[in-house]
Amino acid sequence: MTDSVNDCLFCRIVAGEIPATVVAETDTTLAFRDIDPKAPTHVLVIPKEHHRAVGDLDPVLAGQVLATAHQVAKSEGVDETGYRLVFNTGRDGGQTVFHVHCHVLGGRGLSWPPG
Ligand code: 5GP
Ligand code: ZN
Repeated sequence: MTDSVNDCLFCRIVAGEIPATVVAETDTTLAFRDIDPKAPTHVLVIPKEHHRAVGDLDPVLAGQVLATAHQVAKSEGVDETGYRLVFNTGRDGGQTVFHVHCHVLGGRGLSWPPG
């Protein structure tokens, strides 16, 4: 579990200290493949700046994360078949990395509600 900016896994990916398979990048966001994919497409989109959870993002940065997520859905070829964006938040939400990230999931039928 990661919970401080100094020891943050995703900040270290942004800094290039930990390798990741990057699929998209903007000035303010980075998208890379999840190391343990739960669907044929499973990409994480993060703001480059450290924020703990979705509620800590200002609306402009939140919009930039969403725009990158949609770009990823298009480049992954799942925008027509459909996809799911998920922000796990806090303990009950199943958040394990406390640098806000948007899961982009697609490429198969996704069950609802999640377990
Ligand atoms: P959360 O449970 O916080 O919503 O999601 C964290 C996600 O980060 C998990 O899906 C997990 O597989 C992924 N993850 C954990 N460590 C790494 C890593 O070192 N690299 C990448 N690319 N993904 C990771
Ligand atoms: Zn961070």
